[in-house]
Amino acid sequence: MAGEARLPGVATTLPSACPLDCPDACSLEVTVEDGRVTRVEGARDRNPLTSGFICAKVRRLPEHVHGEERVLHPMLRTGEKGAGRFERITWPEAIALLASRLIEARDRFGGESILPYSYGGSNGPLSQGTTDALLFRRLGASRLARTVCAAPTGAVATAMYGKMEGVAPADYAEARLIVVWGANPQVSGIHLMPPIRAARARGAKLVVIDPRATPLARQADLHLAPRPGADVVLALALIRELFETGRADLAFLAAHAEGWQELRRRAEPWTVARAAATAGVAEGDLRALAALYADTNPAVVRCGWGVERNRNGGSAVAAILALPAVAGKFGVRGGGYTLSNSGAWRFDAGVIAGPEPATRVVNMNRLGEALTSLADPPVRLLFVYDSNALATSPHQSLIRRGLARTDLFTVVFDAVATDTARFADLVLPATTFLEHRELSRGYGAFVLQAAGPVIPRVGEARPNYEVFADLALAAGVATRDEIPSEEDAIRLLLDSTGRGDELRDELAGRGWATPEAGERPIQFVDVHPRTAGRRVHLLPEALDREAPEGLYRFRDDPATAEYPLALISPATGRTISSTFGQLHPEPARLAIHASDAAARGIADGDRVRVHNEWGEVVCRAQVSDGLRPGVVELPKGLWSHHTENGATANALAPDTLTDVGGGACFNDARVDVERLG
Ligand code: SF4
Repeated sequence: MAGEARLPGVATTLPSACPLDCPDACSLEVTVEDGRVTRVEGARDRNPLTSGFICAKVRRLPEHVHGEERVLHPMLRTGEKGAGRFERITWPEAIALLASRLIEARDRFGGESILPYSYGGSNGPLSQGTTDALLFRRLGASRLARTVCAAPTGAVATAMYGKMEGVAPADYAEARLIVVWGANPQVSGIHLMPPIRAARARGAKLVVIDPRATPLARQADLHLAPRPGADVVLALALIRELFETGRADLAFLAAHAEGWQELRRRAEPWTVARAAATAGVAEGDLRALAALYADTNPAVVRCGWGVERNRNGGSAVAAILALPAVAGKFGVRGGGYTLSNSGAWRFDAGVIAGPEPATRVVNMNRLGEALTSLADPPVRLLFVYDSNALATSPHQSLIRRGLARTDLFTVVFDAVATDTARFADLVLPATTFLEHRELSRGYGAFVLQAAGPVIPRVGEARPNYEVFADLALAAGVATRDEIPSEEDAIRLLLDSTGRGDELRDELAGRGWATPEAGERPIQFVDVHPRTAGRRVHLLPEALDREAPEGLYRFRDDPATAEYPLALISPATGRTISSTFGQLHPEPARLAIHASDAAARGIADGDRVRVHNEWGEVVCRAQVSDGLRPGVVELPKGLWSHHTENGATANALAPDTLTDVGGGACFNDARVDVERLG
């Protein structure tokens, strides 16, 4: 498409699909003029969920694609690490240099001295896990446990339900009770909002469980604001209450579930009164939720990723996902749960990347430790792509220290000059999804889309698929005929689902394809657990072994007298994780409840220092009634320019791990705040 002749000065609208890290996978209409993107809107005629609107984040894509922070050429460091001084080099020079560095690292220190580091920055299934994985697998590089998000939820959903598809966003309109737990669909996955509104217009009740009084929480029929990390005891109390009041669906449990007796036993200590006191919510509110949930049908729980980001995250998610099984909420449209629907699409990238060697695994939440302490061998070459590691991972000061190592060669392959790129030895310019072919699969919306480039590549930017293929060839770990063309790679990925022809027909016809179970599957009617015997495993053995003291155990709040406030860092309407952070120059503010501010002599707008044993952040305070006392909030995805000292919430986040899945414990940061002069 990008190669087609365009009349100068004439705007053309072209189709695309959003592959960013968001459940909705919107269909896009992109307006292009003189080879530049001038406008991005939601399409009406493809992914039905998009329905003609998109988020404010992606509407600013033209500034992201053509903005000042765009990386236009390969660049080699000339100044100190972190100084952000580079000189331009050519692509052939960059590929030759990098290939020689990769070979040198492998031959001198062993393949495991190479650490690839990536997450869902800006790309879909073609750009990640294909030629990049081929390169690193054949070099024998360390493997990355990609755990910064969705690791505990993924582990739990897999063990309990085999990642069974969840309730489709559209089917929320059919629910009579909607429980939004640890999610904020007004800023993340925004297309859930119209069905929620539709359900409420028909009389459905809305419950929001969130330590913040978000705008959605303020509209809810019931809002519970638990202490961060205490969700698990609320869910266990609901389970206990269902059994105690004779409203557990014993027939369903007998027919479809394993482990419910032990779950019941572990929920036993959590009376409503005790759970409410532990979580810091009103006992009457928790009792009201128990009654609503037991008595209303269809009832759906939207479990968000906010629930997982603490020491009890896996157990909390497990207890929440157990609710519809215990209460017998499946089997009707609008009843059940939604977490991630990524299990609906089972691409096997191994068809391109080949087998995975059993090299060491590095948890991405421990990047700082990996760069500063890992031995045998130490990390000598760090390759960051689709990630702004310094902004997004816990224990930021340790990562910064690691990136400053003079014996570490760091490559950052990104579309924009991120905080991490400032520490790179070599920066490579990546295309955005508007400049290359990509597949986009929803993990909320049940859609798969394919899109080609709508504009020429900006500057000398190149797609991941192509650059990693070139590196594999230059490093001598693959031959040209082992690497499929992009077109063949897409064909192979589609074929790996077992429904290649069908998907191609749907994509060529209406422009989007649906998974086998359709776009609005009913749980336990159209889809079933992909587990042994298609049963729900309410106490999966592996998770029970992994969790300290076993699954469904509450580990107490890590607050101390010195650091009594819980710091949370939720998503906002401005960035997708840290993507688009460069478009927001305005300084971040720490939201603090009026009572906590008054106790510290802090007024709105005061300069404050937020600190703990992991680091400190200097910024301005925003006195707010939008969160519970004892909780302070800094936004997720901040960049160094958002605070006075360049540190963000992740400078205060410990690199401890969740009870299962090795996830990040961002919301276990406990801090204090002091007013600065
Ligand atoms: S980020 Fe989400 S809501 Fe925004 S355009 Fe992409 S898919 Fe749609």
